[in-house]
Amino acid sequence: MKSARLACKASPEQATSIVTVADRLAIGGPDIVIMAGPCAIESQQQMDSVAQQLAPSAIGMLRGGAYKPRTSPYSFQGLGLKGLDILVNVGMTYDLPVVTEVMAVEQIPQVCDRADMLQIGSRNMQNFDLLKAVGQVDKPVLLKRGLAATVEEFVMAAEYILSHGNSNVVLCERGIRSFDSYTRNVLDLGAVVALKQLVHLPVIVDPSHASGRRELVADLSRAAIACGADGLMIECHPTPDLSVSDAAQALSLDAAVMLAEGVSPIAAAVGRRVPPSRCRTSTENSDVEVRPSVASRG
Ligand code: PEP
Ligand code: MN
Repeated sequence: MKSARLACKASPEQATSIVTVADRLAIGGPDIVIMAGPCAIESQQQMDSVAQQLAPSAIGMLRGGAYKPRTSPYSFQGLGLKGLDILVNVGMTYDLPVVTEVMAVEQIPQVCDRADMLQIGSRNMQNFDLLKAVGQVDKPVLLKRGLAATVEEFVMAAEYILSHGNSNVVLCERGIRSFDSYTRNVLDLGAVVALKQLVHLPVIVDPSHASGRRELVADLSRAAIACGADGLMIECHPTPDLSVSDAAQALSLDAAVMLAEGVSPIAAAVGRRVPPSRCRTSTENSDVEVRPSVASRG
């Protein structure tokens, strides 16, 4: 991987670069960053329920797709700009930075103006024009591994973004295609370990798309943190079975909050920390209590 000169570590000892989101969330530092939310933004009410329950927990970022890449052109394609506005307003209300997918170069200005982090989805990992374009924005980028991309192709995709001027790139392992249809994809934890050795960029894991089965998500999350992941991306929904997309992998909101607590001992075992829940009434956390207020966002 000699040609990935910006993504690769100069020496094995080089520390992970910190990617800062919304001026206050550090990905790649000692704290594990957990992003959670529905597959797709469906309504204001749905997003309010999600944020209200997640904001007081250890979950630090809100996700949700406004532009959805769907296998079938007849499936729900996302609410577009309307969905983006719902996500961003709810994020501001509950003081949660937001990440959302950008599928096309022409969507970049509107997503960049509103969201705190831009997601490049698996299907676009080698959309080189899109990679070059997000290389020129001043927002951090979450780059998801292609459905069948090698580790080298994944790193080279990140190199496109870095070489066009954006140094704030986070990689996301989200499972790769294999022969076994029991799980939606195969979570490649070997790639997570390899990436942590090879590149200085933070690496997070999405066990929801990797497994496609909600009952596997919490255990895979713990495994991901145990092998060095810097964070997690989790799909959850107020009524999981009624999710318009990816229902089988959606956790309930309670389960998502429990998952965040459940990874904490594993994080501690590998010298990391899941930040404390923001709703605790104990004095040490009272300074970070969440109040739903637009003004609370810097
Ligand atoms: C998503 O995170 O919304 C998504 C579509 O995931 P992926 O690109 O990994 O399939
Ligand atoms: Mn999804």
